[in-house]
Amino acid sequence: MSSSEETPSNFIYDIIRDDLKSGKNDGRLMTRFPPEPNGYLHIGHAKSICVNFNARTLKEGAICNLRFDDTNPAAEDVEYVDSIKEDVRWLGFDWGGNIFFASDYFETLYQFAQRLIQDGKAYVDSQSIEDIRKNRGDFYKPGVNSAYRDRSVEENLDLFQRMRAGEFDEGSHVLRAKIDMASPDLNLRDPLMYRIRKTTHHRTGDAWPIYPIYDFAHGLSDAIEGITHSICTLEFQDHRPLYNWFVENTGPGNQPQQIEFARLNLTYTILSKRNLQKLVESKRVGGWDDPRMPTVSGLRRRGYTAASITNFCERIGVTKRDTVVDVGLLEHSIREDLNAKAPRVLAVLRPLRVVIENMPEGEVHEFEAPYHPKDESFGNRIVPLSRVIYIERDDFLEDPPGKFKRLAPGREVRLRYACLITCNEVVKDDAGEIIELRCTWDPESLGGMPADGRKVKGTIHWVSAAHAIPARVNLYDRLFNKENPMSNPDGVDFLDNLNPDSMETLNECLVEPSLSSAKPGDHFQFERTGYFNLDPLAAKGSYQFNRTITLRDTWAKKGS
Ligand code: ATP
Ligand code: MG
Repeated sequence: MSSSEETPSNFIYDIIRDDLKSGKNDGRLMTRFPPEPNGYLHIGHAKSICVNFNARTLKEGAICNLRFDDTNPAAEDVEYVDSIKEDVRWLGFDWGGNIFFASDYFETLYQFAQRLIQDGKAYVDSQSIEDIRKNRGDFYKPGVNSAYRDRSVEENLDLFQRMRAGEFDEGSHVLRAKIDMASPDLNLRDPLMYRIRKTTHHRTGDAWPIYPIYDFAHGLSDAIEGITHSICTLEFQDHRPLYNWFVENTGPGNQPQQIEFARLNLTYTILSKRNLQKLVESKRVGGWDDPRMPTVSGLRRRGYTAASITNFCERIGVTKRDTVVDVGLLEHSIREDLNAKAPRVLAVLRPLRVVIENMPEGEVHEFEAPYHPKDESFGNRIVPLSRVIYIERDDFLEDPPGKFKRLAPGREVRLRYACLITCNEVVKDDAGEIIELRCTWDPESLGGMPADGRKVKGTIHWVSAAHAIPARVNLYDRLFNKENPMSNPDGVDFLDNLNPDSMETLNECLVEPSLSSAKPGDHFQFERTGYFNLDPLAAKGSYQFNRTITLRDTWAKKGS
């Protein structure tokens, strides 16, 4: 959003406006989007990106950092870093030079940890991880102090430095904050700060045999960067006192204010990187960018526009209350955007051959047709008609019910933009399958209007056999057929709630010749069948289209 547009209102922006008014943080405003590079971004992350980056419109000179919280080398990868950058940029946000990595602070964080040890506020624990977990207690039971809790400062410093030097095996020691094992807040029961991990990091390589725990690194990274408002989701509310404790006791000089909001949940969708990863690993989808995935890259490949996603995020707003948003709202958002932006073209998905008997072979009639019914700026193109055409198989019925307005034996129908044709004969193969219709056209009905004013109700789409381009079309639908795919009656796994009809590939489609100039990613409305885009990842020169969305909501009727 540009700063000239009105900034949306929400309780977070209200807090920021008040802080700016009262001169807090010397009038500075700095936010950040802090992904962990352990998966691709999904639509929930898009919401967080919008909230954080759009906050910049509240104050001239405000900054939003893109910071990778890359403290867990086992799960992280440059592939994820690259995809996250690409997705944020595609959504329309520019971080300028403000890109950072928590791994850049490893040395600073190590110094902070040593300082806590010196102040008697951290110690090396040599219990096993299982014992640490067991001795932490629970909501009803206070924790038990570790036998190593009273190690001297000198011993702690020595052990921690040797952990850093790589002298110890994984699991033999950890560094813990010394807070209070009886605290009613479980996060304050001597939380872990460092563990030994002899894993290569995607940026620091093998320089570090110890890695900071997320809770130690996250809040301090915000503080180091000078973030004024740390906007995050509700699950981090309980961690706030701990983040504050780390900042107060290490003294980076800036105390960010954490504000939590409810994460986005969507019906018929899962939004957790861990579970999305399961879909990828179990090969239920073609990858993180499978067009059925709720990832930013999947939605893009499916044909969602960046505007449809950011408009959706704005519409659902920002609240403190956990809710589940109807996925129909996201689908509405892309229909609305493509209705305005997508040129209309003719494409036949399941072709039925039609021979126009009174049109000589080699004769071609050209009709001018607008690309958009309401917006002249799209211009026109020529659609050619010749003796053999294809129509959609379901636009013909041999024995139609009364309400059927399309083609049937003896009936007349309008070919969109072109003329009227009448069906005279149905040709079948030995098995009784319809293979061709024999029709005649009315040469006086140019543009589809009969010269005598007779009424013809049905209009169907078509392509000329001699001119059409063969194409493959993937018809996508919702990936899950349960409103809440994670609901677990009788031990059903979320993978059992997959919609078996979420993808159908049609290999014998035909599209109008103007599509020869289509570029990967281009959006179209195939008249009467839906919105499609030319698959941005399809092989060069191949015509593979993805159905982004049907023209109307077919799920609203079905119920759940
Ligand atoms: P997931 O739970 O899907 O694995 P995450 O929270 O572990 O996501 P991070 O990379 O840590 O993923 O998230 C980066 C930022 O995006 C965090 O500030 C987080 O609060 C926010 N975020 C993640 N999921 C959502 C969501 N569904 N709605 C809104 N914000 C989200
Ligand atoms: Mg996380």
